Amino acid sequence: MTAEGTFEDAPCRLAGRRVKAGFHCHTVESDGGLTPAETIERYRQEGFDCLGITDHRRVTQMDEGDAGELLLLPATENGGMPDIIGVGLQTPAPVELPLPERAAALAEQGSFTIAAHPTYCAVLPQQFIECADLMAMEIYNAYCDAAYANGYALELWDMLLGQGKRIWGVAGDDAHLNPRKRHYSDVGRGWVEAWSDSPEPEPVLTALKRGAFFSTQGPVFERIRVQDSAIRIECSPVAQVRWRTYGKVGEVEYAPEGRSLTSSTLPDWFTPRVFVRVELVDHDGRRAWSNPLFVAGGPGHIA
Ligand SMILES: [Zn+2]
Repeated sequence: MTAEGTFEDAPCRLAGRRVKAGFHCHTVESDGGLTPAETIERYRQEGFDCLGITDHRRVTQMDEGDAGELLLLPATENGGMPDIIGVGLQTPAPVELPLPERAAALAEQGSFTIAAHPTYCAVLPQQFIECADLMAMEIYNAYCDAAYANGYALELWDMLLGQGKRIWGVAGDDAHLNPRKRHYSDVGRGWVEAWSDSPEPEPVLTALKRGAFFSTQGPVFERIRVQDSAIRIECSPVAQVRWRTYGKVGEVEYAPEGRSLTSSTLPDWFTPRVFVRVELVDHDGRRAWSNPLFVAGGPGHIA
């Protein structure tokens, strides 16, 4: 039995090593501008620890010799409508399959499944609710935001979470590094940071599937602590910490004039029905998003 209003033990509470990872970029193997080796080098320069190249409808072969310390995970932007990314797979799924079957075909290979740019794909909530093997969705796609003004999917995310759908939020570059595209999309605009025991393929994939990560445009969560009904976060210096759920409760903590916040605590009166999540906003307006923390025994609860 859990007391009313307490939160589930959260996988993202852990301190320790963080793995900076990108799971959406393209090379000359599809519509990107650089070779796989050049793309890997750009991600190394930006301080990434882990990369999945997601060329369209194929798993691009990557040469470990190019990677150095960078962990390479085989990945694809699978294709089909709505589109889906698989990370840690061997073979893309047939694009004609409906989303639930495509997601299942990727999940069967042990891959982490992410819905690509849901707003660009004009997704309706029911399509994701009915997709059991969909593990995450892009809540921020930098290329879609910059090129088409439709890169965010935060309202859809909250709507799904509020109905008890367990789905993690991922930020991605969708970097094409290609001057021939209408918009040049670069590296390091949106990524995830996973708390993983080690920077090896299996622990990183396990951390992703458990939701032990946050997504960001720059700010970082140093720590997320959950104890019964209390949540406290520690973070890089930011201007705002925003406590969110789906429904009318919510809270923004602002840094005092000329100062920064580096921690925040969920207010006592804030009693979400299903979940709460935390957003950071730094002094340049860049955001970070925690994964949801679910109320124990609530509609999102899994025993
Ligand atoms: Zn893409």
